[in-house]
Amino acid sequence: MSDTLAFDLIVIGSGPGGYVAAIRGAQLGFKTAIIEKEPNLGGTCLNVGCIPSKALLHSTEQFHFASHGAGEHGIECGKPSIDIAQLMRKKTKTVDQLRMGVQHLMKTNKVSVFHGLGVLAAEQTVQVKNADGATEATLQSSKILIATGSSSIELPFLPFDGEKIVSSDQAIAFDTIPERMAVVGAGAIGLELGSVWARLGSQVDVIEFLPAIAPSFDKDVSKTAERLFKKQGLNFHLNTKVTAYKNDPDGLILTAEKKDQQIDFAVDKILVAVGRKANTTGLGLDAVGLACDDKGRIPVDAHYQTSVPGIYAIGDVIAGPMLAHKAEEEAVACVERMAGQAGHVNYDVIPNVIYTDPEISSVGLTEAAAKEKGIDYVSGKFNFSANGRAIASDATDGFVKVIACKESDKLLGVQIIAKGASELIASAVTHMEYGGSAEDLARTVHAHPTLSEAMKEAAMATAGQAIHS
Ligand SMILES: Cc1cc2nc3c(=O)[nH]c(=O)nc-3n(C[C@H](O)[C@H](O)[C@H](O)COP(=O)(O)OP(=O)(O)OC[C@H]3O[C@@H](n4cnc5c(N)ncnc54)[C@H](O)[C@@H]3O)c2cc1C
Repeated sequence: MSDTLAFDLIVIGSGPGGYVAAIRGAQLGFKTAIIEKEPNLGGTCLNVGCIPSKALLHSTEQFHFASHGAGEHGIECGKPSIDIAQLMRKKTKTVDQLRMGVQHLMKTNKVSVFHGLGVLAAEQTVQVKNADGATEATLQSSKILIATGSSSIELPFLPFDGEKIVSSDQAIAFDTIPERMAVVGAGAIGLELGSVWARLGSQVDVIEFLPAIAPSFDKDVSKTAERLFKKQGLNFHLNTKVTAYKNDPDGLILTAEKKDQQIDFAVDKILVAVGRKANTTGLGLDAVGLACDDKGRIPVDAHYQTSVPGIYAIGDVIAGPMLAHKAEEEAVACVERMAGQAGHVNYDVIPNVIYTDPEISSVGLTEAAAKEKGIDYVSGKFNFSANGRAIASDATDGFVKVIACKESDKLLGVQIIAKGASELIASAVTHMEYGGSAEDLARTVHAHPTLSEAMKEAAMATAGQAIHS
């Protein structure tokens, strides 16, 4: 039996929620421990999520440019070819560098790192178990933070085999380019990884149960995205429900239904990207009397406190958008609350991004959501086809849409589809965080020529005052 080690804060899980909480805890003077069951720190985001997917998107965008766009600029590079092993090595190098960064941060902040499964044994006790189930360490604290994140949802009739029927964990690491691939789900992960493999030459069929791709975005954005991504070779099957699969000598046959019609897709790989579920298995919730909600998430109050005093939860394991920056903000707010400070997350202004080409981003309400809430609003739209920098940079696809309260002019939401939309959304978030109006945004000086001028013009358009359209 191991000795019991005492801490001021124990964090279970080292994703963007967990490791940020550990650092903030250390900054606030807590003697902090973090427990991670995987060999590397960084969680989904760093190891199999945000970072590797963005590295692949960047590499394949370069390949796509070399294959399709370079000639127009007078850049002759012949017909480029892909070395998939090198492409993956480049991705791994990026991930490794950031893993070392997180490790270094744990060291410099004097956070004690434990590798193993964190299991709640009692209200103030966490055991660290090794792969054989033996207890390697017993930690005690009056403050325990669960940040165990999420994993891909499996469809019962399409069980993951890690080879042909895969989750994003494998789809970021194929060692050959699949000839034919089905992507089930047209949300962020399906669209991003579908784009990666389509750019490398796979025939990609994206099957979506709902009537739109990127369904959480404004309808206008979804429609534009669908049109643009179709041109890039993604085949969309909307209002279509996947129902079964069977092995075939030539690969897999995936069966789907659209209205009453059956469609069969002959493919080599199926990526199931239908969402993620909270990680609570093996965590020992029963031992402390914690129950999950109907979606398997850990319920918390406004201060991230669970029903058990001293046990908190943040990130993907609780309700809300499953996003790394949401987990990070909750981490800081939660730990500051533990220290008696006034940490707070403004859930009305959490940006959401899909890193396709063009990218899609949004913050706040869509027009549909404003309508549903009965808010009287005005909207303004500006197309990148009328933006100088966009024309000079082959970035004319897409638009910015701004919506504001008709009476107060307060910004309610911004939707962008454009190259660099992930960066452009930041200024909308800032304006909204400070309660800015469409006029504030419209009268803010934006450098020329920049894509961000489209944001200003869309804000001006809410009052019918856009200059360039
Ligand atoms: C392919 C993909 C792309 C994504 N892209 C983006 C993006 O571009 N932007 C964005 O904002 N979000 C993105 N996400 C979502 C993002 O990764 C998550 O929202 C984020 O990682 C959640 O952070 P977290 O700290 O709550 O959990 P996680 O990052 O999931 O970390 C939880 C950690 O806890 C560990 N753990 C679980 N149980 C235990 C236990 N009992 N004991 C010890 N350790 C345990 C896990 O091993 C894991 O390391 C993406 C996800 C995927 C899959």
